[in-house]
Amino acid sequence: MKITPIEVDGYEKVARAEDPASGLVAYISVHNTTLGPALGGMRLWNYAHEEDALTDVLRLSRGMTFKSAVARTGLGGGKSVIVADASQKSDALFKAMGAFIESFGGKYITAEDVNIGIPDLLSVRTQTNYVTGLPRDMGGSGNPSPYTALGCFEGVKAAAIEAWGSDDLRGKVVALQGAGNVGIVLGKHLVDCGAKIVVADVNASNVAKACDELSAEAVDVDAIYDVDCDIYAPCALGATLNDETIPRLKCKVVAGAANNQLKDEVRHGNMITERGIVYAPDYVINAGGIINVSLEAEPGGYNEEAAVLRIKNIYHALQSIFETARERSITTHAAAQAVAEANLAEAAATA
Ligand code: NAD
Repeated sequence: MKITPIEVDGYEKVARAEDPASGLVAYISVHNTTLGPALGGMRLWNYAHEEDALTDVLRLSRGMTFKSAVARTGLGGGKSVIVADASQKSDALFKAMGAFIESFGGKYITAEDVNIGIPDLLSVRTQTNYVTGLPRDMGGSGNPSPYTALGCFEGVKAAAIEAWGSDDLRGKVVALQGAGNVGIVLGKHLVDCGAKIVVADVNASNVAKACDELSAEAVDVDAIYDVDCDIYAPCALGATLNDETIPRLKCKVVAGAANNQLKDEVRHGNMITERGIVYAPDYVINAGGIINVSLEAEPGGYNEEAAVLRIKNIYHALQSIFETARERSITTHAAAQAVAEANLAEAAATA
C-alpha cells in the first residue's frame, strides 16, 4: 500500500492511501487533536472526481472538531473516506483500510458513516484497535442513531423555548425531511409529546413507515420546504438551507440531525436569522451520536446511563448558544463557533 502525506493548511495530518491489491483508494484527515484523538466516521462514496473526496474529508473532519469541542467529548476532529462504489466492498478493501488507519497510530479513531456497516468495521478491526461503534456484545456502544435522535429531540425543545417561550410541543407541526435511522426515532419522540408530523423522503418504504408509525402526512420531496409548519427538521441531506429554500420556509424553528445544513455558513446563517427563524446549529444538535461513542473511552468503558445524561445536556448547550447569539446580536451558528473556539483555546492554553 502506498501512503502519501498531503500538506493542508490548518490540518494536523492528512494522507491518501492506494492499495492496488484490494482496490482501496482512501483519505484520512485529522483536523485537530487539541482536545483528544480525532474521532469521526468512515464514509464510502462513489465520488465523481477524486478531488471531491479530499474536499469532503477535509470539510467533515473540521466539522467533527467543532462538534466535539462544543459537546466536550474529550475528542478531536477527524474523518475518513473511501473512494468506491458500494458494489466494490470487500473484506480485503476494509482490511487495507484498517492498515491505513493503524498507520495513524491512534491519532485517528474510526466509526460508521454513510455506506458503512458493522461487517465492514469488523474487517477494519482485524488490522487496528482504533474502531468504535461496534455492537454492545462486542464491547462497543452500538448504533449511534437513537442517541443522535434523542439529542435532536432535546434540541428541538430548547429551540421551542427560544421561539415560543415554552417547550410544550402539543399541536406543533413538524416538517420532517428524511425518515431514516435518526428521523424516524426523532419523529417518535415528537409524536409522544403531541406534535404532528409531515414527512418527505425519497425512499417510499421510509415514507410508508413514517405514515404508519408516526401517523405522518406525506408530501412530495420538494414540497417539504413549503409546508405550513412550526418546525422544519432536516434529517436527510446537507446544504438544504440555501438561497432557494430559505425564502420558502414557513417555520419558526429549524432543528434537525443533518450535517452541514447551511449551504454557506455565514450568508445562509444570516438569511435564516433575518427571517426571524430560530436555527439550532447542526453540529450542536446532532452531537448525540458522538457523545454516545465517546463514552467508550471512559475508564470502565461504555455506560448508557452516563451517555444519556450527557446527551440530554444538548438542551442546555443550545440554550446557552441562543442566549449568546441574542446578547451579541450574532447568528446562532456564529455563537456555536465561538463556544467551540473558546473550548479549543482553553485546552490549548492548559496543554
Ligand atoms: P439515513 O440514511 O438512515 O436516513 C436518511 C434518510 O433521508 C433516508 O430515509 C433517505 O431516503 C432520506 N433522503 C435522502 N435524500 C432525501 C431527499 N432529497 N429528500 C428527503 N429525504 C431524503 O441517515 P441517518 O443516519 O438517519 O442520518 C440522517 C442525517 O443526520 C444525515 O445527514 C447524517 O449525516 C446526519 N447525522 C446522523 C447521525 C447518526 O447518528 N446517524 C449523527 C450525526 C448526523
